[in-house]
This record gives sequence, structure tokens and C-alpha cells, in this order.
Amino acid sequence: MVAVLALVTTPLRAVIDVVLPPRCPACGEIVDGDDRFCAACFGQLQALGPPQCACCGIPLPHEGDIAAQCGACLGEPPPFQRARAPFTYGGPTRHLVLALKHGRRLHLARMMARAMLRVAGDLPEDAVIVPVPSHALRLWQRGFNQAAEIARQLSRQSGRPLAVDALARIRATPSTKGLTRKARQKNVQGAFRVAHADQIKGRTVVLIDDVMTTGATVSACAAKLARAGARQVEVLTYARAVREEQAHVSVR
Ligand SMILES: [Zn+2]
Ligand SMILES: [Zn+2]
Repeated sequence: MVAVLALVTTPLRAVIDVVLPPRCPACGEIVDGDDRFCAACFGQLQALGPPQCACCGIPLPHEGDIAAQCGACLGEPPPFQRARAPFTYGGPTRHLVLALKHGRRLHLARMMARAMLRVAGDLPEDAVIVPVPSHALRLWQRGFNQAAEIARQLSRQSGRPLAVDALARIRATPSTKGLTRKARQKNVQGAFRVAHADQIKGRTVVLIDDVMTTGATVSACAAKLARAGARQVEVLTYARAVREEQAHVSVR
């Protein structure tokens, strides 16, 4: 369908827009262009940006040194160089993530990748894009891995190579809902392995997932990647869960 739409000429496109008007990916409201939120959902987006922790990207209360880090990163440096996400998780971004996960609306991945690249800046020359893998059973149930779909679009838009199978999931992790940070860390330990070290050795790995919650999953992946010889790991997710007390976010 997308390929067909890309081929049609403008007048025909206008006809299609009347029959199948573009809709807000979060709430389904009719909007005036593809891949955009309606005004109401756009108004609810909470953009993440400076002042933020130089490492994990969490909002910091005061404008200061751009190298400033949050207490958690200073106390226990994460196994990744930095983590960035364009938006907090909740409201419209939650709807978008769920739509991609369960609705198989793969074109949403294109929109998410574009927003992620905006906050990533220029990816290093040696960057290789690696998605957080989903377990074979989930893959079979769902038919695709949403992180891999976002990674594929990111690779296309940034021109950096995709190593879709560099990481593998050894076992499915039970739902982490309601677990504490420590419990989540325990939950994901040993869940991943590097399947193709040759694809990441000596390179900057841009690790992709849809949502970063406590960071336990991306940290487990980043630790494995670093041990397998990655030069550094940068984490890029579409949304980031930010706790109430951390929410010094700018509302756009
Ligand atoms: Zn909407
Ligand atoms: Zn931090």
C-alpha cells in the first residue's frame, strides 16, 4: 500500500486522501498530512532535551554544564556512552508505541525513526545500528520485532548500516511491569548474547528500542556489546519513561 501510494501522481493522491485521509497515529483523528499527530496529541507531547544528564539523558533541574550527569549515572556509570529519546513515554507516544507493537502499522516506525534521529545528532562514521532483539516466541506470535522495524527505518534515513541480528535474545523475559529497578536488572541478566561480534567489533553501536523504562534492558544489551568489542554504545529510543520527580521536561 505504501509503495503504491508513493507511485501515484498528485491528483490521484488527492483523491486517495479523500477516500483514505491520513489519521493521527495516536488517536485516529483525521489530520492534514501523513505521519503527523493531530493538534491535541501534539500538544500533549513532552519533548526531552537540555538541561539533561550528559549520559542517560534524564532531565536535570537546572541549566548547567553540558557534561553534567545525574546522580544515578555518577554513582553507577551505565555500560552505554549516552542514551537519548525525543519524548517522554505516556499519552500519544504510548499510543504510538502500542500501535506499532500490536497493530502491525509498520509505517509508524518511519515517523518514530525520524524523531529519534533529530535528537541523536550526527551519527558517528563508524556507527552500526542494532535493535534490541525480541525472543523467537514473541517474534512468532507477533510476526515482527518493533525495535528492528524502527532500526531498519533509522538505517535507511541515516545511511548507517543495520546489523539486525548482531544481538540475540536467549530467553524471553517475563513482564517487568511493577518490578523495581533491581528486580528488572535481575530479570534481564543473561537474557541476551552477541550473535555476530564481527559486525560490531571496534564500532559505535547505536542500540535501538521503542521505549526505555528503567534502562535495565538496554544496559544488559550494552554490557554484552561492550564485552564483545564494541567501541562504544549509544542508546536511542523513541520514548523514555520519566518518573514524576524527574519530570523537569519542556512541554512543546
Ligand atoms: Zn491525535
Ligand atoms: Zn544519568
